[in-house]
Amino acid sequence: MSFTADHGHIHASAHDHDEAPKGKLPVPQDVQEAIRTLIRWSGDDPEREGLLDTPARVARAWKEYCQGYDEDPAQHLARQFEEVGGYNEIVLLKDIPFQSHCEHHMAPITGKASIAYLPRHSVVGISKLARVLHAYARRLQIQERLTAQVAQCIWDNLNPHGVAVVIEAQHGCMTGRGVRTPGVGMVTSRLYGTFLSDPRSRKEVLSLMGY
Ligand SMILES: [Zn+2]
Repeated sequence: MSFTADHGHIHASAHDHDEAPKGKLPVPQDVQEAIRTLIRWSGDDPEREGLLDTPARVARAWKEYCQGYDEDPAQHLARQFEEVGGYNEIVLLKDIPFQSHCEHHMAPITGKASIAYLPRHSVVGISKLARVLHAYARRLQIQERLTAQVAQCIWDNLNPHGVAVVIEAQHGCMTGRGVRTPGVGMVTSRLYGTFLSDPRSRKEVLSLMGY
């Protein structure tokens, strides 16, 4: 058996290629190199076998964690139903689980959100409220801004009598590092319209949410 003079491809190491496995997003070399640098900085060897494919995996995972950047959250509220059958009570989607990442440490924020509104002219499919949440959560965030953005988006696009958003979450940067306080949740809320101005209405929505 003889080889032709086709050198050059034999020594390519596992991370030396641009083309991704079938069906997977290609990851540019500089992105992979950045993650190798971080592995090295953390104290491990990015060339050891178990870590060879890690940079590409991490990069693809981050595209997924941050896929909200490719979405316009308001677009989820575009389809509205005017015929509400005289319904003029609170619409509430309770305890929606979500994951986000804090912009200070890029650590996970894991929690649940309750989103309510008091319809004026129209309603949206209930799952759309969760879509708005995820469109903002899948970005680098702080919990306060996430809460405010979700409330603002519903307030602006649905023009309801009131909006209430309450988010309860744990922060990986607190539970896994720093003061290391697992089990501590942070609660943030943003209220608009009736829920802000009328104490009875506010009490009602918060009690429906379980607060
Ligand atoms: Zn953080």
